[in-house]
Amino acid sequence: MTIYYFYCLIIYFCSFSLIYTINDDNTWPWKKTNYLSRSNWSSLLNPNNNNNQHPVWFIFYYLNYCGYCKKAEPGWEAVAQYAINWSKYIQIGAYDCASGSLSIKDICQDEKYPQWRIYCPLTNTTHLAFSSKQRTIKTKPEDILIWLLNKLNNIADQCYGQQWPIKNLIEPKTKDDLDKIIPKSVNKFQLFISDDILLYTLFVLNNSKTIQTEPIYRLAKQNQITKDISIIKGIRENTGQITLQQIDSAQIMKPFVLDKNIISHFETINRKNIATLKPTLSDIDSATVWMINRDLRRGLPDLTENVKSWIKTLYTYYPGSKTMKSFLFNLNEFVKNYTTLSPNEYQTYINSTSIIKLPQLKFDHCNGSDSSKRGYPCTLWVLFHSMTVKQAILAEQNALPSDIKPSDVIVSIREFIGNFFLCEECVTHFVNMTINAENEIKSHHESILYLWRSHNVVNKRLRYEEYTNDPNWPKVPFPTKEQCNLCIQQIDENGDATEYNENETYKFLKEFYSLNNSMRIQTYNLILLFSIVIINILISNK
Ligand SMILES: Cc1cc2nc3c(=O)[nH]c(=O)nc-3n(C[C@H](O)[C@H](O)[C@H](O)COP(=O)(O)OP(=O)(O)OC[C@H]3O[C@@H](n4cnc5c(N)ncnc54)[C@H](O)[C@@H]3O)c2cc1C
Repeated sequence: MTIYYFYCLIIYFCSFSLIYTINDDNTWPWKKTNYLSRSNWSSLLNPNNNNNQHPVWFIFYYLNYCGYCKKAEPGWEAVAQYAINWSKYIQIGAYDCASGSLSIKDICQDEKYPQWRIYCPLTNTTHLAFSSKQRTIKTKPEDILIWLLNKLNNIADQCYGQQWPIKNLIEPKTKDDLDKIIPKSVNKFQLFISDDILLYTLFVLNNSKTIQTEPIYRLAKQNQITKDISIIKGIRENTGQITLQQIDSAQIMKPFVLDKNIISHFETINRKNIATLKPTLSDIDSATVWMINRDLRRGLPDLTENVKSWIKTLYTYYPGSKTMKSFLFNLNEFVKNYTTLSPNEYQTYINSTSIIKLPQLKFDHCNGSDSSKRGYPCTLWVLFHSMTVKQAILAEQNALPSDIKPSDVIVSIREFIGNFFLCEECVTHFVNMTINAENEIKSHHESILYLWRSHNVVNKRLRYEEYTNDPNWPKVPFPTKEQCNLCIQQIDENGDATEYNENETYKFLKEFYSLNNSMRIQTYNLILLFSIVIINILISNK
């Protein structure tokens, strides 16, 4: 019975569609899962009615821009579909911790994402049940569900109270004993004979609709009542006596084998956005606005020193617009004064009318073919590469203080990622990959190439990750032959670069990430204006 049941569960989860789409407003199109937000959080979790029975919630916490989180989305929808009839006891929800202008710590804790929490109605608290650290490439949705159920079984009393339908094992010695254990008010009940509490839990929850009128008790395999490992129906006769009758458990399990054909599939949206071939100042400014409003704020007050240090580095090597650079200058002056900075003090400063307003988010090069693709992580890379280039340019101009080391920018980037980037997989890989940066980077030239090589390692790892990649922007070794013919020394049968000329690549990267677009546009405009004036003079002289 056990094997059969789990087999059904696994087949069910495997059969769920893996197609993923996104809504225009950047929210994921949850169909079966309850999409929780700050505005509906209280009303859904604490419904204001007289019924004291509120369900427990299993909540998936994610960031809409995190590819690693996206991988879990179809599986979580499968869980929501599977658990659709449990809603009286367990509701399935999802909360986007990147939603809104700010993530507020009372809902989104300071941990990495994705993570799964159990919301307890009795205490109005959430409990971490499964975190991204526990997740491996082999983790399946049913594993996460099982983890949640096991955790819930341990905290059910404090979380939900005595009405929780999963009951402790009963150990009657005789049928008379059983008669005493089963309350007199219960006319119908079932005995589930198994040592497996999880299997019992699933069975009870799948009978949520009838469980109040027909409670299910669990007997151990070694019990005094029956030798069968099965499900037994109990009826209290008019005389008050209990009669037991074995039932066809295979038949009972049947409704839980869900038909693949009835599972609705998501439609794909084929909206195409056009992105610029080269990064722009808007990409860099957008990365900065995003991190200032979300990542850095979220780290306060605990990471005040790290926030100060990153803002200083960002200001020193800022490769974005002049407006943003002035903003960072002021922000750096402001944070300097604090040993502990609260999120409110920081936010009040940012909102204050006396300072420069932050620009709107605008992704140019990092504009994905739909709004779930590219965006913030892409702009972060652009910002980081441009900072290494800016550092090299400042060094050439002797504009850096003498105590600056060539590895400083990469080390600061590593600290920023480790402290503030919420995608667990990204943090683990990037921090490990750059752990020896201090010893490996001996020149500013090398700093640019170091980040370029590291980024190509990430590209290679993610190349076939369908959830992370924008089909219009495949993760191929960078730069391609089309971008820099001289950079490439060898290509493979697919046309991918396998060996680079690093001197040429260095020159290419310096050019690619020196983003003086606005100056170029201004110069171009001046030339155009000058030409128009000359043409007008020539025409009027004729
Ligand atoms: C530090 C860091 C670590 C990450 N780790 C992960 C992870 O582990 N798992 C995951 O799913 N996602 C990870 N991401 C996100 C992922 O790398 C991409 O940013 C995201 O998938 C968007 O990809 P994209 O196609 O826009 O191009 P991106 O990889 O974001 O690149 C942005 C732009 O940089 C340029 N570029 C590409 N390669 C190079 C290079 N080698 N050198 C210089 N410039 C280059 C191109 O113009 C490209 O369009 C990470 C992001 C960051 C910032």
